[in-house]
This record gives sequence, C-alpha cells and structure tokens, in this order.
Amino acid sequence: AQASTFSTFSGANTLADGFAVPLLANVGTGSDALKAAEAGAEGVGLLRTEFCFLDRAEEPTVDEQIAAYGAVFAAFPGKKVVVRTLDAGADKPLPFLTNADEPNPALGVRGYRTDLTSPGVLERQLQAIAAAEAAHTAEVWVMAPMISTAEEAADFASLCAAAGLKTPGVMVEVPSAALTAATVLREVSFASLGTNDLTQYAMAADRQLGPLAALNNPWQPAVLQLVKLTADGAALASSTTGLPKPVGVCGEAAADPALAVVLVGLGVTTLSMSARALAAVSAVLKTVTLDQTRHLAFTALAAPSATEARAAVRAGLPILDELG
Ligand code: PEP
Ligand code: MG
Repeated sequence: AQASTFSTFSGANTLADGFAVPLLANVGTGSDALKAAEAGAEGVGLLRTEFCFLDRAEEPTVDEQIAAYGAVFAAFPGKKVVVRTLDAGADKPLPFLTNADEPNPALGVRGYRTDLTSPGVLERQLQAIAAAEAAHTAEVWVMAPMISTAEEAADFASLCAAAGLKTPGVMVEVPSAALTAATVLREVSFASLGTNDLTQYAMAADRQLGPLAALNNPWQPAVLQLVKLTADGAALASSTTGLPKPVGVCGEAAADPALAVVLVGLGVTTLSMSARALAAVSAVLKTVTLDQTRHLAFTALAAPSATEARAAVRAGLPILDELG
C-alpha cells in the first residue's frame, strides 16, 4: 500500500477539500533540481546557493554563479524557484565570507549580515541571479537568510529592485522577525519560515548538538506559536497593503507529514522539503480539509510539550498508520 500511495503524487498537491498547498523542493545544485522535478516538485522553495560554492576559498565569479543558478532554473521551466542568497556562517562556513574565529558563530556575522563585512558580494550575487533569470522561464523569487528586522528587509528589497529582481522576500528564522512579521512583510513580497534555525534560536539550543535534540524540535509549542505569529503578521500586512504576502516553510519541519498538516493549519501556504519527502507529505495532506488542519494546529498549540503535541496530532491522522 505504501508504494502505491506514495507514487500517486502528481505535482499539484491539494487538501481533501481541494485547497491547494503547493509542494516545493529544497535543492542545492542543478542535479538536485532535476531529481526534484522528477519527484513531482511543483517548483523550488529553497535553493541553498551556498551549497554551490561550499568548497571555495574565493568568491565565485558572476559568470560561474549565472551557470549554477541557471542549471536550477532550467529544471523548472515556467515554475517558481525561490533563490536564497548566500547563507554563510555557523553550520555553513564559507571562507570568503565568514570568520572562523568568532566566539559564537550562530549569533555572528552570518547570512544577510555578511553584507556588513563583505560589501559587494550580495550585489554581485543578485546581478547573477537576475542574469540567470533573464535566460530562463522560471519564475524567480529571491530571499535573504537571517533577517532580524524590518529595516534589513527594506534594505534587501532595495538591493533586489536595483538588480531588477521583482519578488524580494525574507527567511523568517530569527524570532525577532517572527514577532515583527507584520512590519517585516510590509517591506517584502513573501516570507519563508526556516524552522531549523527558528527552533535553534527560539529554544536557545545549538542545532548541531545531539544532546539538545529534544529542545531542538519544531514540535515545541513555542516554535509553533512563532509560526502562527508569522502567518498572522503576514495576513495583517496583506490587508494593510492590499498585496498578497504568502508564507511558506522550507525547514525540515515541512518534511514531517503530521507537522506539515499543522503548519498548513497555522496559515502556511506552501511547503518546501527534500524531494524524497514529497510523496508522503502529499499523501497525508490529501486526507484532511483546511478546517481539519486548523483544528489539529489548535490541538498542537495547546499541548504542554513537543511530545504531547506530536502524539495528539498523530492520533488525529489515521492515514499515518497505513503509511507506516
Ligand atoms: C532553516 O534554517 O530552517 C533553513 C531552511 O535554512 P538552513 O537549514 O539552510 O539554515
Ligand atoms: Mg537557516
């Protein structure tokens, strides 16, 4: 039963009531993107551009960048591809951007913050993304990692506009951005929740430390509250600006089928995950209506612990037993 249920994912995911929840893929390279397209991804929700250049001592040239991003766009003609600008630092050091001697790398000059210490790299990257976009038909959205304030979001949007990129967004993975989502989203067109870092920072638990795994769990009700605040803030920004302000999730949480149901119930509109998780997430989402996702989200938020949140939601999703 498992194989046949999983193989039915066709690339246009909906809930049981027909409500569309596009399922996108997290990729790092053109070959990842081809595999994701074969697995039925409706687009790319997170292109981790630093993965193209992890072994590099120096900044890649604009032409090298155009080739790397173009390879991903080519795999998704006419489809959405969300490009994240270089997220260097902490678990993803890039020698040309980050300082290995920082005492607290997770709290250091990483992600968007490297624009403070290495000015110009971000502008050249945006220029390369725009050039790659011009050569392909993919619908390119661009987002910055580690945004903490509305001011940073506005600065990033200006840089995107200067490069001719029309759909700027931010990752919400720092609790301050979740708490101020209504003002952050006034400045940009969309947000994508990075639940890996959002959990790390909400729980003050290094995501790379095994002994802290119980804290580093996106089922923690505190993390779910931050997801809800972000979705609610985006809805407010949408009504004050009259523009859509979609909020996706591109952290590992989206790949857990039961948690994916909760995220949709909290107001998330797209889910992005590693390609191998797409079929199982789709199979479970197909069994619930939007109202049911909201009910299950409420159940999770009200639970006193991550363990109880997960158990209560899973009890409401009988399909999970069938899928094993
Ligand atoms: C995240 O933080 O959830 C995320 C998607 O980004 P990364 O795992 O690359 O930090
Ligand atoms: Mg992150």
